[in-house]
Amino acid sequence: MSKAQVSMSHLIRVFTKPEQLSSTLAKIEQQLSDNLADFLSQHVVAKKTSLEEIEKDFDSAVVPESPEFVSTHAEVLLDKLVAHSVNTYSPTFIGHMTSALPYFHLPLAKLMVGLNQNLVKIETSKAFTPLERQVLGIMHNLVYRQPESFYQKHLHSAQHSLGAFCSGGTVANMTALWVARNNLLGPDKGFSGVSRAGLANAYRHYGIEGIGVISSKRGHYSLAKAMDLLGVGRDSMITLDCPSQTLSAEKALAEGKKYQQSGKKLLAIVGVAGTTETGHVDPLDELADVAKELGCWFHVDAAWGGATLFSERYRDKLKGIERADSITLDAHKQMYVPMGAGMALFKDPKHSNSVRHHAQYILRQGSKDLGSTTLEGSRNGMAMLVYASLHILGREGYELLINESIEKARRFADLITQHANFELVTSPTLSLLTYRVLPQGLSETLQRAPHQQRQVINELVDQLTVTVQKQQREAGKSFVSRTRLSTHTYADSPVTVFRVVLANPLTTDEDLAHILEEQLTIAQTTQTWTKLQNYLT
Ligand SMILES: *Cc1c(COP(=O)(O)O)cnc(C)c1O
Repeated sequence: MSKAQVSMSHLIRVFTKPEQLSSTLAKIEQQLSDNLADFLSQHVVAKKTSLEEIEKDFDSAVVPESPEFVSTHAEVLLDKLVAHSVNTYSPTFIGHMTSALPYFHLPLAKLMVGLNQNLVKIETSKAFTPLERQVLGIMHNLVYRQPESFYQKHLHSAQHSLGAFCSGGTVANMTALWVARNNLLGPDKGFSGVSRAGLANAYRHYGIEGIGVISSKRGHYSLAKAMDLLGVGRDSMITLDCPSQTLSAEKALAEGKKYQQSGKKLLAIVGVAGTTETGHVDPLDELADVAKELGCWFHVDAAWGGATLFSERYRDKLKGIERADSITLDAHKQMYVPMGAGMALFKDPKHSNSVRHHAQYILRQGSKDLGSTTLEGSRNGMAMLVYASLHILGREGYELLINESIEKARRFADLITQHANFELVTSPTLSLLTYRVLPQGLSETLQRAPHQQRQVINELVDQLTVTVQKQQREAGKSFVSRTRLSTHTYADSPVTVFRVVLANPLTTDEDLAHILEEQLTIAQTTQTWTKLQNYLT
């Protein structure tokens, strides 16, 4: 392989724009600007190569010694990396929350990367700082709908913050619970607060044995990570069973009371607006009442479902979200922004002062540096892409996209229900649903069968679902994901299901019908299918 000469002049050329872009880079730029989706479907051919095979291309830990020519290296990237990545733009890739992006993000993202602004402080971001604060304000307004004077007062105030922009839902959940913890165990007569004195001293000062959080079993695993990092421990994450897929307000209240009586204090109740596995929305309004009665923080994880608020038709599904003390949103999910765009929003603009940090060289007292209330330090100008999306699509554009996804999910659910060989397991509240293959007639058998036999049949159907999901993925034409869950119908033990997230507006009803047909064709060729026929009566 041809190597470049190590010289300062070569390195300087790498830092400045060459007269002529290396041929491979020029080719990539051309193809990307022509049609990204075509580029991806031509280049991404990963499906049939096993991960173990691909790992062979990445199995050396040797530091590359001498520089390579940009062009040479770009070829390697196309060949070894891009070719074996995943085409998230495909309309038949409907298994995850990651999907296609509007084309304008590509040039704008290039501008963002090129400018290399750092939002930790104004000295490296200038106009990007007020822009980010405005984006947080717009999203705050979408949820909380405060009067204009409220936003005039707080949007750019050095003493307030409407939220924290961050890399994603995980960091947003962490930030929200961090702010909640520091408010609960804040400074008090002769006590400097948990932020300075630490948890052990805080528990001693407040005379409590621990603090905990209640959510349903469908809560995102990032909540448990946050509990771990905040020092309160994963075991203090109380996750309640939810056969109906949502957190029961009565159960939460009972559990919260029991917890408070045990010498501990409830830090927060977390409601989910759009669970990752089934897309359900917890009864937010009722949970807000419960939090009020228990005197604890109310957090809503709306990482995926939050964008539903753009839809006048469906925003009521999230009723009660406006009563949350904090909210997690991910613009890189249903807002179609590239990854790295999470937000934690705070109802009370003073709350994040409980995590405010100062340093001598930046984040000085009274400065508007965003880094003083964010968990992360250096951050890019991603807010620009959220800002652009908000303007280019507008609320009306988002509403159309959201409505279409929800309605498409309903049509798909109908298709599954009508199909003799499939069973809808959870119906869509938003644009996420789960189902499984179930050979015709087995549904009746399952209803009549004694417990033991139900178990045996369900285990076989689980196997069938796993096999079909894997083979469909390997075949590379389409992709759905899978998970395991219990429902009212399958309360005794969880069942394995296909999980579909509809996000790509280019996915058609016909695509969905084809996906079912493909799954059925695969299923019918398996031995499990044949075995299952023995149970038909
Ligand atoms: C995706 C998701 C998260 C995590 O967000 P990341 O951006 O992946 O860190 C948290 N909660 C819910 C409900 C989610 O859907």
